[in-house]
Amino acid sequence: MSDRGTYQPFTYYQLMETSLRELLVEKGLVTDEQVNAEVAAMRARQPERGARVVAKAWIDDAFRQRLLKNGTAACEELGLEIPALRLVVVENTPQVHNAIVCTLCSCYPRVLLGIPPDWYKSRNYRSRMVREPRAVLAEFGLRIPEAVQIRVHDSTADMRYLVLPMRPQGTEGWDEARLAGIVTRDSMIGVAVPTIG
Ligand code: FE
Repeated sequence: MSDRGTYQPFTYYQLMETSLRELLVEKGLVTDEQVNAEVAAMRARQPERGARVVAKAWIDDAFRQRLLKNGTAACEELGLEIPALRLVVVENTPQVHNAIVCTLCSCYPRVLLGIPPDWYKSRNYRSRMVREPRAVLAEFGLRIPEAVQIRVHDSTADMRYLVLPMRPQGTEGWDEARLAGIVTRDSMIGVAVPTIG
Protein backbone atom coordinates (compact mmCIF):
# COMPACT_ATOMS: atom_id res chain seq x y z
CA MET A 1 0.00 0.00 0.00
CA SER A 2 1.30 3.47 -0.84
CA ASP A 3 2.04 5.87 2.00
CA ARG A 4 0.38 8.67 0.13
CA GLY A 5 -3.15 7.76 1.19
CA THR A 6 -2.29 7.42 4.89
CA TYR A 7 -0.04 10.46 5.28
CA GLN A 8 -1.22 12.78 8.04
CA PRO A 9 0.55 16.01 8.98
CA PHE A 10 1.70 16.19 12.61
CA THR A 11 -0.70 17.66 15.12
CA TYR A 12 0.57 20.40 17.42
CA TYR A 13 1.28 17.93 20.26
CA GLN A 14 2.95 15.37 18.00
CA LEU A 15 5.24 18.10 16.71
CA MET A 16 6.02 19.27 20.25
CA GLU A 17 6.72 15.71 21.42
CA THR A 18 8.96 14.90 18.45
CA SER A 19 10.89 18.17 18.72
CA LEU A 20 11.47 17.82 22.46
CA ARG A 21 12.43 14.13 22.20
CA GLU A 22 14.89 14.73 19.38
CA LEU A 23 16.44 17.60 21.30
CA LEU A 24 16.84 15.48 24.47
CA VAL A 25 18.43 12.69 22.43
CA GLU A 26 20.71 15.12 20.61
CA LYS A 27 21.86 16.63 23.93
CA GLY A 28 22.61 13.13 25.21
CA LEU A 29 20.10 13.33 28.10
CA VAL A 30 18.21 10.23 26.98
CA THR A 31 18.62 7.69 24.22
CA ASP A 32 16.02 6.58 21.69
CA GLU A 33 16.22 3.12 23.24
CA GLN A 34 15.33 4.49 26.68
CA VAL A 35 12.37 6.40 25.28
CA ASN A 36 11.14 3.34 23.37
CA ALA A 37 11.54 1.08 26.41
CA GLU A 38 9.57 3.50 28.61
CA VAL A 39 6.78 3.84 26.03
CA ALA A 40 6.58 0.04 25.67
CA ALA A 41 6.42 -0.39 29.47
CA MET A 42 3.71 2.26 29.70
CA ARG A 43 1.60 0.61 27.03
CA ALA A 44 2.01 -2.80 28.64
CA ARG A 45 0.57 -1.61 31.96
CA GLN A 46 -2.96 -2.76 32.46
CA PRO A 47 -5.68 -2.15 35.06
CA GLU A 48 -4.82 -5.56 36.56
CA ARG A 49 -2.24 -3.76 38.67
CA GLY A 50 -4.87 -1.56 40.26
CA ALA A 51 -7.22 -4.53 40.63
CA ARG A 52 -4.55 -6.33 42.64
CA VAL A 53 -4.33 -3.39 45.02
CA VAL A 54 -8.11 -3.27 45.49
CA ALA A 55 -8.45 -7.03 46.03
CA LYS A 56 -5.65 -6.96 48.58
CA ALA A 57 -7.39 -4.12 50.43
CA TRP A 58 -10.64 -6.08 50.49
CA ILE A 59 -9.10 -9.15 52.14
CA ASP A 60 -6.47 -7.49 54.33
CA ASP A 61 -7.87 -4.76 56.54
CA ALA A 62 -4.47 -3.64 57.86
CA PHE A 63 -3.28 -3.18 54.27
CA ARG A 64 -6.49 -1.29 53.47
CA GLN A 65 -5.78 1.15 56.28
CA ARG A 66 -2.20 1.68 55.16
CA LEU A 67 -3.43 2.16 51.60
CA LEU A 68 -5.88 4.87 52.63
CA LYS A 69 -3.23 6.58 54.74
CA ASN A 70 -0.44 6.51 52.15
CA GLY A 71 -1.31 5.02 48.76
CA THR A 72 2.19 5.35 47.36
CA ALA A 73 3.86 3.47 50.22
CA ALA A 74 1.19 0.74 50.32
CA CYS A 75 1.55 0.08 46.58
CA GLU A 76 5.30 -0.17 47.01
CA GLU A 77 4.69 -2.99 49.51
CA LEU A 78 3.22 -4.91 46.56
CA GLY A 79 6.20 -4.09 44.39
CA LEU A 80 4.31 -1.41 42.47
CA GLU A 81 6.60 1.58 42.23
CA ILE A 82 4.87 4.95 41.93
CA PRO A 83 7.72 7.25 41.01
CA ALA A 84 7.49 10.86 42.18
CA LEU A 85 3.74 10.74 42.59
CA ARG A 86 1.49 11.00 45.57
CA LEU A 87 -1.24 8.39 45.21
CA VAL A 88 -4.38 9.12 47.19
CA VAL A 89 -6.82 6.24 47.51
CA VAL A 90 -10.42 7.27 48.14
CA GLU A 91 -12.80 4.71 49.57
CA ASN A 92 -16.40 4.24 48.54
CA THR A 93 -18.82 3.68 51.41
CA PRO A 94 -22.60 3.28 51.59
CA GLN A 95 -22.72 7.06 52.16
CA VAL A 96 -20.08 8.33 49.72
CA HIS A 97 -19.30 7.50 46.10
CA ASN A 98 -15.97 8.75 44.70
CA ALA A 99 -14.93 9.43 41.13
CA ILE A 100 -11.81 10.87 39.54
CA VAL A 101 -11.20 13.37 36.80
CA CYS A 102 -8.47 15.70 35.59
CA THR A 103 -10.18 18.94 34.70
CA LEU A 104 -6.98 20.46 33.31
CA CYS A 105 -5.69 17.69 31.07
CA SER A 106 -5.54 13.92 31.48
CA CYS A 107 -3.68 13.11 34.72
CA TYR A 108 -4.52 9.53 35.57
CA PRO A 109 -3.06 6.75 37.74
CA ARG A 110 -1.34 5.21 34.71
CA VAL A 111 1.06 3.26 36.84
CA LEU A 112 -1.93 1.26 38.16
CA LEU A 113 -4.48 1.49 35.34
CA GLY A 114 -2.44 1.83 32.15
CA ILE A 115 -3.38 4.22 29.36
CA PRO A 116 -6.51 6.30 30.08
CA PRO A 117 -9.59 5.71 27.93
CA ASP A 118 -10.35 8.40 25.34
CA TRP A 119 -13.47 9.58 27.14
CA TYR A 120 -11.41 10.36 30.26
CA LYS A 121 -9.47 12.91 28.22
CA SER A 122 -12.54 14.37 26.53
CA ARG A 123 -13.60 17.92 27.24
CA ASN A 124 -17.11 16.66 27.85
CA TYR A 125 -16.10 14.37 30.73
CA ARG A 126 -13.57 16.81 32.20
CA SER A 127 -15.95 19.74 32.35
CA ARG A 128 -19.22 18.03 33.17
CA MET A 129 -17.94 15.56 35.75
CA VAL A 130 -17.31 18.33 38.26
CA ARG A 131 -20.53 20.24 37.52
CA GLU A 132 -23.08 17.45 37.22
CA PRO A 133 -21.45 14.18 38.31
CA ARG A 134 -24.74 12.43 39.03
CA ALA A 135 -25.94 13.01 35.47
CA VAL A 136 -22.61 11.95 33.96
CA LEU A 137 -22.51 8.77 36.06
CA ALA A 138 -26.06 7.96 34.96
CA GLU A 139 -24.85 8.19 31.35
CA PHE A 140 -22.28 5.52 32.23
CA GLY A 141 -25.21 3.43 33.48
CA LEU A 142 -24.37 4.06 37.13
CA ARG A 143 -27.29 5.43 39.10
CA ILE A 144 -26.21 6.77 42.47
CA PRO A 145 -29.08 7.14 44.94
CA GLU A 146 -29.82 10.74 45.97
CA ALA A 147 -28.96 9.88 49.58
CA VAL A 148 -25.39 9.00 48.57
CA GLN A 149 -22.95 11.88 48.37
CA ILE A 150 -20.72 12.03 45.27
CA ARG A 151 -17.16 13.31 45.67
CA VAL A 152 -15.21 14.12 42.53
CA HIS A 153 -11.43 14.31 42.87
CA ASP A 154 -9.44 16.47 40.49
CA SER A 155 -6.04 14.96 39.70
CA THR A 156 -2.93 17.05 39.23
CA ALA A 157 0.52 16.55 37.77
CA ASP A 158 1.92 15.29 41.08
CA MET A 159 -1.16 13.86 42.75
CA ARG A 160 -3.22 10.94 41.45
CA TYR A 161 -6.33 9.33 42.82
CA LEU A 162 -7.59 5.77 42.78
CA VAL A 163 -11.07 4.77 43.85
CA LEU A 164 -11.34 1.86 46.26
CA PRO A 165 -14.76 0.44 45.37
CA MET A 166 -16.96 -1.41 47.84
CA ARG A 167 -16.62 -5.17 47.86
CA PRO A 168 -19.84 -6.58 46.43
CA GLN A 169 -22.07 -8.81 48.52
CA GLY A 170 -21.89 -12.44 47.52
CA THR A 171 -18.07 -12.51 47.36
CA GLU A 172 -17.57 -13.87 50.87
CA GLY A 173 -14.84 -16.49 50.88
CA TRP A 174 -13.42 -15.50 47.48
CA ASP A 175 -9.64 -15.48 47.24
CA GLU A 176 -7.60 -12.48 46.18
CA ALA A 177 -7.21 -13.51 42.52
CA ARG A 178 -10.93 -14.15 42.08
CA LEU A 179 -11.75 -10.81 43.70
CA ALA A 180 -9.25 -9.01 41.46
CA GLY A 181 -11.10 -10.47 38.47
CA ILE A 182 -14.21 -8.37 39.14
CA VAL A 183 -12.37 -5.08 39.76
CA THR A 184 -12.69 -3.21 36.48
CA ARG A 185 -10.80 -0.15 35.32
CA ASP A 186 -14.00 1.89 35.37
CA SER A 187 -14.74 0.90 38.96
CA MET A 188 -11.35 2.32 39.98
CA ILE A 189 -12.13 5.58 38.16
CA GLY A 190 -15.52 5.62 39.85
CA VAL A 191 -17.77 5.53 36.80
CA ALA A 192 -18.83 1.95 37.57
CA VAL A 193 -18.98 -0.42 40.52
CA PRO A 194 -17.79 -4.04 40.60
CA THR A 195 -20.51 -6.62 40.08
CA ILE A 196 -20.56 -10.38 40.27
CA GLY A 197 -22.22 -11.06 36.93
FE1 FE B 1 -3.95 16.23 33.83
